[in-house]
Amino acid sequence: MQSIANIPKLYEMVDFGHRENIGAIFGKKEVNMANFVERKFIKFHLGDKGIRTHIDALHAAPPCSDKYTGEIVEGVIKEINCHGIIATVSRTIADLNRLPNQKNEEAIKEYRQTIKDILEHIGILNENEKLIKPYLHLAIHGIRNTVHGPLSIEIGTRSGKTCSSEVKDWFIEKLKGCNLKIQIDKNKIGDSSKIVHRWGDKISGLYYFGYGSDFNTFQIEISRTLREKHKNDLIYLFSDIIISFNEAFE
Ligand SMILES: [Zn+2]
Repeated sequence: MQSIANIPKLYEMVDFGHRENIGAIFGKKEVNMANFVERKFIKFHLGDKGIRTHIDALHAAPPCSDKYTGEIVEGVIKEINCHGIIATVSRTIADLNRLPNQKNEEAIKEYRQTIKDILEHIGILNENEKLIKPYLHLAIHGIRNTVHGPLSIEIGTRSGKTCSSEVKDWFIEKLKGCNLKIQIDKNKIGDSSKIVHRWGDKISGLYYFGYGSDFNTFQIEISRTLREKHKNDLIYLFSDIIISFNEAFE
């Protein structure tokens, strides 16, 4: 097995293409502030209105947290000033990565309202509250090293129900640029609650329409070693993916 010391920086393995502004994004001296608004179950950051993406860590709060996912999300927010949501309540009290149930209903309402607040902040909803432009939602989670290995990422899309096939192909191609083990819809296929932002929630009783086929969610399960030893590389990687998405899908 490769030792960590022999693994090149992940972002050195990413094909950043010939984007002009790459130097402006990476390696800059000053760090943006992340001004979080505190709610009851989450805190969130409204970023640059030109970025049609939010990144979230819904299992960031202990006990039973996905360790380092909150820091990774905060790091991406500071790097590119995108929008972001971090859970401040443990999944043991209210699991935000589920459909509404008796325990989490109030938290889910708050989470869904926050996504709506972000979309209204950007101004990309029409009068029927559907998206008028492509949107990317990165849901950051943690997976044990034993599932796919210490340098692995699994992408969950519920077999394509949470995103368009075009965006999915693009996303997988982007990740293949890193020398990581990438799995798609294998062990962690993405929670069914990830579908509702796209197609609405007709089962749980909570009124939620869904924002249509331009909403693209990826549940991203990151191995423990990657989260712990390659946090900055992951921040650069997701920052690049977000900027690239906003350039590729207009
Ligand atoms: Zn998780």
